[in-house]
This record gives sequence, structure tokens and C-alpha cells, in this order.
Amino acid sequence: MARVYNFSAGPAMLPQAVIERAQAEMLDWHGSGMSVMEMSHRGKEYMSIAEKAEADLRELMAIPANYKVLFLQGGASSQFAMIPMNLLGGRAADYIVTGTWGKKAIAEAARFGRANCAADTGVGGRYTSVPSQAELKLDPGAAYLHYTPNETVDGVEFPYIPEAGAVPLVADFSSSILSCPIDVSRYGLIYAGAQKNIGPAGLTIVIVRDDLIGHAMPGTPTMFDYAIHADNDSMYNTPATYAWYLAGLVFEWLKGQGGVAGIAEVNRRKAEKLYAAIDATDFYANPVVTECRSRMNVVFTLADSTLDERFLAEAKALGLTTLKGHRIVGGMRASLYNAMPEAGVDALVAFMADFAQRNG
Ligand SMILES: *Cc1c(COP(=O)(O)O)cnc(C)c1O
Repeated sequence: MARVYNFSAGPAMLPQAVIERAQAEMLDWHGSGMSVMEMSHRGKEYMSIAEKAEADLRELMAIPANYKVLFLQGGASSQFAMIPMNLLGGRAADYIVTGTWGKKAIAEAARFGRANCAADTGVGGRYTSVPSQAELKLDPGAAYLHYTPNETVDGVEFPYIPEAGAVPLVADFSSSILSCPIDVSRYGLIYAGAQKNIGPAGLTIVIVRDDLIGHAMPGTPTMFDYAIHADNDSMYNTPATYAWYLAGLVFEWLKGQGGVAGIAEVNRRKAEKLYAAIDATDFYANPVVTECRSRMNVVFTLADSTLDERFLAEAKALGLTTLKGHRIVGGMRASLYNAMPEAGVDALVAFMADFAQRNG
């Protein structure tokens, strides 16, 4: 069996230990005589799996008691609609746009009410920086302020938490949740699709402060109302049971890595090594302002783009896969989520130096 170092932006690598554990428990979970996939979500066994996953996530992120954790479906993209439907309350919302996903989020919000652009750092559709706090055009009467701490396509990460005063801060943490400690109490709502740093696709996590629940706009579909899911412990309908279970295994694994603080240190080293390799030669370049460089999604170009295909093919032959950049940005992108071992980054860095030497 040859496992590769998969630099995909999502669905992304999972820790091998987690997949092995799932494999061992596949046919008969803890003597139940069935796979987790076959369990009733309301049965005692599955309830214990679901509750442990939530408890471990609460512990990992130190989530205060006045926040609900919802295990939903529909991806982060459904949250682009669910957030305005539940939080707008007839007011306007502010959006900071620093990349491809933020642009989609504000466009969706505009379908439900007024979505003001507090800042947009795009130049010709490309994003390489974030605005400073002073540059934000904030409405003190806004229903919420939305931003994207890490823009997955553009490789742009906020080096600070925007200050919104009394306005609830809403953050799309899809590609950076659990990668470093977050002060949850600074936020009104945090959401993330699972397929980057949590588990398999199909699960969406929403962490929402109690006072923001129960204000859905008239006409909100039942399944899009946070109150319905909060009141039913995310079991109003059948949740993504297997994805929830696997997320729980990832949370357990992460606790064994020294928790979020422990993995943050590894993530910092991985990103530093890769950016150092890019900066070491004119053969490679990263366009992002240094302090806004993403730790999770490292984008880079080759000075001679006619070498792109050869770079990708040779990397793949060495077991370094899915390095092609997003079609909007081009070039390369290496995603370094929690499950990417440091050895994978070391192998990529060694290949890049060798490739540059042979082709530079
Ligand atoms: C991947 C991603 C999304 C889209 O997630 P889906 O689960 O596919 O809807 C949204 N925002 C960010 C920051 C992402 O990385």
C-alpha cells in the first residue's frame, strides 16, 4: 500500500491513524454487531458517539457554555444563506471580502437583505492582502460582521481578529478551524465545512452564541432555522452520522497531538519551511503580503509557467499529489492542514529545491 502526501485543498488528507481506526471498527463497532453507518441516529450507541464528539470539540476549542455546537449538512455554502436568514432580523450586515469565498458569502447574503461591503481587497479578481482595522467601513448598527479568517483559494489569512464592538462577529473558518487556538468568545458565530480540517465531506459545524438563535426571518425553511437544530441537538432530521463519527475520531486524534496548541506549533513550522523554500529562489514566487500568508493554503507560481506540467508530473511520481492551484489563481497550491505530516512538507521542500536546480 502506498499512501501519498495529498496536498488537496479539500476534501483533504485525514490522519492515517483515524482511517485505520475506522477500518478496524468498520464491520462491528464496539461489539454492537454493526457498522456506525448502519446505526439509528437515535439509538444509545450512536448517541454516545455523537455526544463524545461534541464534548471533545468543546474541550479542544474551549467553547463557552453559552454557545451551541450544531452538526449540520449543506456545507459552508449553505451557511452563506443560513446566516443572513437567521441573523439579519431586518437590518443590514457588513462583509469583509478578502478572497473567493468571502465574495460568494456577500453575494448570497444580498439575496436576503442589505449586505454592505466593509472592505474588499481584490484587485482584478485577485486577493493578496487583508484590510487593516482602520480601513474597515463598519456600521455600528449592523446585524453582524462577516469575514473569512483564511481564504482557501487565494492563500490569504487574517493576522488579527477584526474588532466589531457590540456587533456579533461571524467567521467562515472552513479551512483553518482547529489549526490554532481561537478565542471563541470573540465571535457570535463560527462555521466550517468539515472536509478540510475536521473530517469527511458532508458535515458542517456551526458554533453559535445562544442569543443569536431564535430570530429566523419569516419564511425561513425549517431546515435552515438554527433554533430547530439547537432544540433537537442536531437530530431534527437524520444527521450525517458517519461523517460525525469520523469527525469524532479526528477530535480524539487531535487531543493526542497536544490539542490545538500542539498542532498549531507543527502547522507554524510546516508553513515556515515551505515559504522559506519559495523565498529561497527566484524560481518560485508567492504573491501574498508576508503577514497575510496563509498557514493552511500555500499558493506559489513557477517563474516559467511552461514548466508547470512537468513540476506536477514529477511531484506526483514522488507521491506528492494534488498540487495544482485553483483554476482562478493558477500556479500551485499546497494545503497543509492538520493531517499533513511534517515529513510531507519536508519531501515537498526537497523536491522543489531539486526541481529548481535542474530547471533554473
Ligand atoms: C471550502 C470552503 C467553502 C465551501 O465549502 P462547502 O462545504 O463546499 O460548501 C467555503 N468557505 C471556505 C473558506 C472554504 O474553504
